[in-house]
Amino acid sequence: MASRDFDCIVIGAGIQGSFTAYHLAKSGRKTLLLEQFVLPHSRGSSHGQTRITRKAYEQDFYTQMMEECYQLWAQLEKEANVKLYRRTGLLIMGPENGRDFLLFKNTLLKNKVPTVTLEPSEFSQHIPHVNRNPGDGAIVDTTAGVLYADRALKAVQGVFHRLGGVIKDGEKVIDIQTGPVVTVTTASGVYKAKSLVITAGPWANRLLSHTNLQLPLQVVKINVCYWREKIPGTYSVTKRFPCFIQTECKEGKYHIYGLPSNEYPGLMKVCYHMGSETDPDERDRQTDRWDIDILSHYITRCFPGLVPIPAVVESCMYTVTPDHHFVLDRHPSHSNIIIGAGFSGHGFKFGPIVGKLLCELTLGLVPSYDLSPFKIQRFLSQPKSAL
Ligand SMILES: Cc1cc2nc3c(=O)[nH]c(=O)nc-3n(C[C@H](O)[C@H](O)[C@H](O)COP(=O)(O)OP(=O)(O)OC[C@H]3O[C@@H](n4cnc5c(N)ncnc54)[C@H](O)[C@@H]3O)c2cc1C
Repeated sequence: MASRDFDCIVIGAGIQGSFTAYHLAKSGRKTLLLEQFVLPHSRGSSHGQTRITRKAYEQDFYTQMMEECYQLWAQLEKEANVKLYRRTGLLIMGPENGRDFLLFKNTLLKNKVPTVTLEPSEFSQHIPHVNRNPGDGAIVDTTAGVLYADRALKAVQGVFHRLGGVIKDGEKVIDIQTGPVVTVTTASGVYKAKSLVITAGPWANRLLSHTNLQLPLQVVKINVCYWREKIPGTYSVTKRFPCFIQTECKEGKYHIYGLPSNEYPGLMKVCYHMGSETDPDERDRQTDRWDIDILSHYITRCFPGLVPIPAVVESCMYTVTPDHHFVLDRHPSHSNIIIGAGFSGHGFKFGPIVGKLLCELTLGLVPSYDLSPFKIQRFLSQPKSAL
């Protein structure tokens, strides 16, 4: 095999591409992972210090996938000898009879995830310095916590490299020739492989245009806001303050979520689960701040211990599908091209299992989970898709 010939090429070294490459290398495939930017970088969706991981979901299939995912994260911690997870619990607050709150609660209970329900009378004793909305229920997924994102990405890429995988960063893919052997051209080389995996995050449709496919993906910029504690440590991870999700509230249509102060001492990360549309190559030209206004109002009302003006605002992108579920599927016209896309702002925690599933699809194995929620076919009635 020539040095530019591989069993598999993976385009995109975010969390999903990196875990796919890791699983392919583990199954003995000669694998190339291509990344357009020099690593590490902060221009996609997988950078930053932290992400929430949880079993709490509105749908059973995600909760069930997370069961194994926790084990796979722990395995990577062992292989890379690094701590990637800190258990904090996840507090879910929302109108007791609201649709989203009930979906979370029912999925947790049905799947026997360890939880604690907080009655209004005991709420402030367990969760001090938070004003619960009147009529809100509160339930804690005690398995949840924080994943150290930048560290995780470095760890999975490190293990992939140790397994003999090849990473070429600073190599933007500019062309894909389909066929039984796929030819991938970057600014500095031409590579061939029997299979190709496209995990290009916000750039997915740019890559897919080389294969005559477009998916209904919306790329949005997220303002990642950190808010100063009036008294440092009030909402700190060291004081066992949990991550949280606020479902339906009067400030906005989408969820608000937060993580205890941790990575930047004295600052708590609280974000809105949606943003404004952006071109991924011109992210910083998107300067809308309506989401920050929503957060300021919510923080003034519910988190009195935070200054309601963000002290730090970083940027990240979501790639959102119409139903907010992922795309994990084979290309409809080219069976040796596998697609992982549209992680809709909640894909990081699934990295190990997404990688495993994309690897299984690549190798023609029966996937470990039912992939029907993630099929491209579901978009056939969507006007933006051209299958
Ligand atoms: C602010 C924020 C908070 C989030 N919070 C959570 C959370 O709490 N929990 C959770 O589970 N998830 C969370 N997510 C979602 C999660 O981070 C994403 O779903 C996940 O990182 C998506 O990874 P990806 O590999 O698909 O995309 P990316 O990380 O964007 O990776 C795609 C890669 O492909 C590369 N690429 C693109 N085009 C080319 C090309 N032509 N040639 C070569 N390389 C190319 C890009 O440069 C990029 O590195 C959050 C996301 C954001 C933005």
